[in-house]
Amino acid sequence: MEYRFLPKKGIAPFVTGLLKDFKVYGPVEKDGFPMYGEITSPKDIHLSHAPTHLSPKQFLFPPKETILRFKNGAKPALEPVIEAHNQALFGIHSCDIHAIKLLDRVFSYGPRDVNYLKRRDKTVIIGIDCVPDKYCFCKSVNTMTVDSGFDLFLHDVGSGFVVEVGTQTGKNLLYKNAKTKKATMKEIKKIKEIRDKKAEMFVTKLNAEASTLPLIYSGSYNSPVWEKIGKICYGCGSCNNVCPTCYCFDVRDEIKTNLTEGERFRVWDACTLEDFAKVAGGHNFRKTRAERLRHRFNRKFQYLADKFGGLFCVGCGRCIRTCLVNINIAEVTNELIEEANKDRS
Ligand code: SF4
Ligand code: SF4
Repeated sequence: MEYRFLPKKGIAPFVTGLLKDFKVYGPVEKDGFPMYGEITSPKDIHLSHAPTHLSPKQFLFPPKETILRFKNGAKPALEPVIEAHNQALFGIHSCDIHAIKLLDRVFSYGPRDVNYLKRRDKTVIIGIDCVPDKYCFCKSVNTMTVDSGFDLFLHDVGSGFVVEVGTQTGKNLLYKNAKTKKATMKEIKKIKEIRDKKAEMFVTKLNAEASTLPLIYSGSYNSPVWEKIGKICYGCGSCNNVCPTCYCFDVRDEIKTNLTEGERFRVWDACTLEDFAKVAGGHNFRKTRAERLRHRFNRKFQYLADKFGGLFCVGCGRCIRTCLVNINIAEVTNELIEEANKDRS
């Protein structure tokens, strides 16, 4: 692994260089809140270590995306649509890099999702260290740090950034666009000091090892917890929409008023919405909110872990911050852990 030192004043020229070859998306501020948005000048960047409401998933798997155009009439035609451009995702936090690695697995599994994968191929990822707020629990699910899945990773060591080089593409970009020098051992050691400090900051924690969570969830199907949270849940889908690892989508067709042309597009869907599991004839496989929440939580901690070999909750805390009725996935998980411990004793 190569480590370079980039002084803080080197960020602006680096971003200016990136802008020549990429659309750059990174941390900006809107209404006083950090969020990811398009950067058209280094001045737009609001280098923030705080969590954002929406994850960078939106740039790889947009909320709405045309996937096909069609035409009927004398000369019927179908045109697949793949919109992908060179893009740099700048200032991405460790949990979100883990989430992107999970999405890479999902969209490569079975029939490859060409729209996602084409976009992914054209994307470079530049990570940055962050500071947990009271809802983050990445340490409990082993995503507090990341050692792959990025091209470059910036560690703020006070006087500047120690830049961890993850790929040859990242190295080329850094050498082309920034004046750096080899990081000293003292600067590199600072990364560990900062990590150790961060590890002590978490308010939200899970009370069991991450590796035991799939088993705990597998025994929780009949837990009273689901009815309890089902009674207060609005079934609004917000928790799905903000989650960096939720990937379900619905496919719809829209016909133009000339009735001969149209588009097929996909939009994010949410398993907490009432219609998600409704099928022709009106049967709903998960009629109640309790059933839908149990399904969502099990997707994060059990079903997808069995399928893809990793937890699908990266501990970003977004669903907790967003939920209007304060349903807290970490608290719920801790209740299930407690129930499992009682059952064992
Ligand atoms: S955000 Fe909260 S209220 Fe809305 S569906 Fe999710 S758990 Fe239910
Ligand atoms: S389930 Fe909640 S905390 Fe876990 S990754 Fe999704 S939004 Fe983040």
